[in-house]
Amino acid sequence: MLDLRNAKQITVIGGGAAGWFAALVIRKIFHPGVAVKVIASEKIGIVGVGEGGLLNIVQTLNHLQIPTGEFIKETKANYKLGFRYKGWRTGLENDEYFHFFMNHRLVEMSEKYADIYPVMAAYIALGKELHKIIPIYQDIIKPIGFDEMTKHLLQTENQGGIGVSFHFDSFAVAEFLKKIAIQRHVVYEDAEVQDFEQDEQGNVCKIITDKGITQTDFIIDASGFKRILIGKYLKSDFESFEKYLILDKAIPYHLQHPKENPELITTATAFEAGWEWQIPLKDRIGAGYVFSSAHKTEQQAMDELEQRHGNKIELFKTLSFVPGIYKKVWIKNVVSVGLASGFVEPLEATSLGQTFEQLRSLGQVISQSGWLITDKNIEKYNEGNLLAWHGIRDFLRMHYDCTRKDNAFWQDISNLPYPDEYHELKQIMQQRTLREIDINHYIGKGWQGIFHVHNWSLVADGLGLISKQAAVNDLNLLPKEVAIKAFEQVQMKMT
Ligand SMILES: Cc1cc2nc3c(=O)[nH]c(=O)nc-3n(C[C@H](O)[C@H](O)[C@H](O)COP(=O)(O)OP(=O)(O)OC[C@H]3O[C@@H](n4cnc5c(N)ncnc54)[C@H](O)[C@@H]3O)c2cc1C
Repeated sequence: MLDLRNAKQITVIGGGAAGWFAALVIRKIFHPGVAVKVIASEKIGIVGVGEGGLLNIVQTLNHLQIPTGEFIKETKANYKLGFRYKGWRTGLENDEYFHFFMNHRLVEMSEKYADIYPVMAAYIALGKELHKIIPIYQDIIKPIGFDEMTKHLLQTENQGGIGVSFHFDSFAVAEFLKKIAIQRHVVYEDAEVQDFEQDEQGNVCKIITDKGITQTDFIIDASGFKRILIGKYLKSDFESFEKYLILDKAIPYHLQHPKENPELITTATAFEAGWEWQIPLKDRIGAGYVFSSAHKTEQQAMDELEQRHGNKIELFKTLSFVPGIYKKVWIKNVVSVGLASGFVEPLEATSLGQTFEQLRSLGQVISQSGWLITDKNIEKYNEGNLLAWHGIRDFLRMHYDCTRKDNAFWQDISNLPYPDEYHELKQIMQQRTLREIDINHYIGKGWQGIFHVHNWSLVADGLGLISKQAAVNDLNLLPKEVAIKAFEQVQMKMT
């Protein structure tokens, strides 16, 4: 049992996005008399990548009462309305599919009949690309630019069904959050953590830094890839995903805007040994090549990049990671969030999305428990976190279940084994369309999940993984008039 009712000091280790968001969440759920401190080392710095969010960033900003307008201004943010996948099927010039965000107001995708989404099934049965269901998708692709999109969202009061997230400058985000946290009386200490001490119950009660000792009642480990507490000190079990996903290196860089309007989507372009992300902010594009070190050396990756972009790329760092997660992220009085808790790869911007879920769920467990938390509730939190990571693993594995097989990398990655849960989903998609119940087992124990049946369906449809017959089978189960209406809705959208 963890008793935080008389906690005096809560400490966050790490001053990246995860650390500062954690500090703000903690500040909100504890009494103002409880001191909240962030210890982070300027010398070590932050990872400085990760510039694309999911829908739950907006939820988190609202929850923390951070005005989105201020966030946009301070972090040079641009809208993000989803993802474009280029070259993942044939590798030809016109090969692209989209995973747009949508909100629950998109009637065509939210109307269900006996757990079937008739309009979605009709799209697939007719061989129409499912992403065309998104209102103004052509304008998004054009792209119409930030101001016009703002006007559209205001005019429609965002009733149109488009889900809105952001692209942002990761350094500016950390600075902005730090400023707000300090205004809210979070104390910041620039120090390097060197060691810890535990009390007789096993709680970590002292943090030893190069500047001194902090006595603490509760700790958030947001130390990024250093994973100094949950990994190195507490030695939580690490579950590697290398059997299923093999990208393990990334070279980040910046590009100029090629067009007048920055795009409102993240583009993921298939390369020879992985893929390139392009995240358009208002004043630059944040880009990076994430690749498999088993298939390319760093030099070969740089050569490919320079050849593709036709100019010299300035290498400022290479990031290495093992795709995987810690099985237990909450041990005694320590909870790890962000990169310290695990990382799979940059595809689909899952890292911050999962961080927000971790923090939302953590806040809920602590406050709903009245600051006296049972071991069972800690266990449930760990289980919920693990399920969510498995959902992320399988969703990302599905992206590589693609038809592209023109070199050793694309052959090897698509031939990697499927996790059991995904294997079954793949079989299902030959017989019927996906339903909420197929995805919901990844979301439990009080977690909300970051990807739902529509996200899975858009990607699966883009990759041709849902057979037309599966959609026809579903439509045959529906009353005739429901199926006819669904076909009519698709025809209307197409004209
Ligand atoms: C290639 C790549 C691409 C990515 N793309 C995306 C994306 O598009 N979308 C997305 O959501 N996420 C993405 N991510 C993940 C994203 O970068 C992180 O989720 C986000 O930046 C938060 O990082 P963090 O705060 O966990 O770690 P960091 O930003 O690395 O912060 C760690 C903090 O811990 C401190 N620290 C470490 N050790 C010590 C110590 N001993 N003493 C004191 N302080 C210490 C550091 O100084 C730093 O302040 C990507 C990650 C990678 C690697």
